[in-house]
Amino acid sequence: DNGSQEFDLLILGSGSGGYAAALRGAELGLNVGLIEKAELGGTCLHRGCIPTKTLLHAAEVADAAKDAESFGVKASFDGIDMAGVNKFKTDVITRNYKGLQGLVKSRGVTFIAGAGKLTGTDTIEVTGDDGTATYTGKNIVLATGSYSKSLPGLEIGGRVITSEQALQLDYVPERVAVLGGGVIGVEFASVWKSFGADVTIIEALPHLAPLEDEAVSKTLERAFRKRKINSHVGVRFKSVEQDDNGVKVSLEDGKTVEADLLLVAVGRGPVTGDLGYEEAGITMDRGFVITDERLHTGVGNIYAVGDIVPGLQLAHRGFGQGIFVAEEIAGLKPAPIDETGIPRVTYCEPEITSVGLSEKQAKEKFGDDSVESLEYGLGGNGKSVILKTNGFVKLVREKDGPVVGVHAIGARMSEQAGESQLIVNWEAFPEEVAQLIHAHPTQTEAMGEANLALAGKPLHF
Ligand code: FAD
Repeated sequence: DNGSQEFDLLILGSGSGGYAAALRGAELGLNVGLIEKAELGGTCLHRGCIPTKTLLHAAEVADAAKDAESFGVKASFDGIDMAGVNKFKTDVITRNYKGLQGLVKSRGVTFIAGAGKLTGTDTIEVTGDDGTATYTGKNIVLATGSYSKSLPGLEIGGRVITSEQALQLDYVPERVAVLGGGVIGVEFASVWKSFGADVTIIEALPHLAPLEDEAVSKTLERAFRKRKINSHVGVRFKSVEQDDNGVKVSLEDGKTVEADLLLVAVGRGPVTGDLGYEEAGITMDRGFVITDERLHTGVGNIYAVGDIVPGLQLAHRGFGQGIFVAEEIAGLKPAPIDETGIPRVTYCEPEITSVGLSEKQAKEKFGDDSVESLEYGLGGNGKSVILKTNGFVKLVREKDGPVVGVHAIGARMSEQAGESQLIVNWEAFPEEVAQLIHAHPTQTEAMGEANLALAGKPLHF
């Protein structure tokens, strides 16, 4: 059908942000069109969050096998069968993909396959297998997502890869270099180390996980050192050479790192080029789409969500923004999203969760003497001792005030994101959290104990 069709809500891009807007919009009775040039679900489902977590889980199983004897279990680690790991990965993606396709269908969202381009303030031209058609939207949501960036002079190709190719490897590299010690870099470094590779991370900022509270970054560095993951921090990449035998990465301090592969994980740029955004009059900044706090671009009824909007590039932020714009368009006047309350997780072994302000940020905001912080070591938490993990839960509070930052590092600490965000977003006082009885033995108890301690009544501390 090459005719034109009009929707209440027309969405460009079906990743976390786009499909969330579609599902919520349809639920609210809007007639929704969802345009996608590749696969429904976008980066997170097919090339991001979900596939990486399957690799991490396989890594956890491998580590457990290596350490089985210490639990009295007879097992041994005989290596990684990447075909098997990739099958597990594909099965998980497929299951989630089918579930999502089912939801889109059952909510009555019209899926439009093809590459879209904004051709006016209420029209998108879509080119697909069947030719080109123009669709009209009373409201438009831009959700075209992001791509792996590189650095000037660093070309992707051959042995220099991004996360996308890293997820497609059918072997475990013997030696791998990772450029960038942020979320994606440390995740792959952790997986490859567990899989048996020799791994070296290169990070220009002074620490791995450089955006986290410094105590967390330093603990991660210690844990990685213990795992024999090499890293060069506080040093910039200079150049890379590759040939049939490998890659040689030169650093600005004169050192070199040799490896079979170089993973470039230096951040993600917005997919907004040549899509008609600027021509429609939308304000752009370095490729990102600028919106107000209601995610409106200031042009017509055009909104933007997800990784193309400056801020945390996270799937759950996309989901939240997608729900927000659908409700906004349906006239529900939702409360704007507070970005500081969005939980951040760094997936690797050990895991990191943080919500709100680091100690340093809190001190900048409230003054050095008006901030209290406390680290509760997981050594005092029975469940963590069983899991043989170190690390801590750190609370940052405004003196005599609510908790403004929660930071956790240790095995499975991603699961602490839930309670952490309730504490920060509900502006809970440690005294209030200390009133809640946490189940024993769980790792959430560490959260309870940290609050008990900060409230002046420590138990296992
Ligand atoms: P995307 O998911 O990128 O979706 C955009 C969609 O738009 C794509 O499907 C694309 O094909 C489509 N599109 C683009 N241009 C057009 C066009 N012209 N016409 C039609 N369609 C178009 N986040 C987390 O929260 N947790 C994690 O654990 C996590 N892990 C990650 C691991 C990796 C390796 C990567 C790369 C990312 C990870 N992320 C994670 C980030 C997360 O994937 C993104 O924040 C999220 O996918 C952003 O959603 P989005 O809707 O903005 O864009």
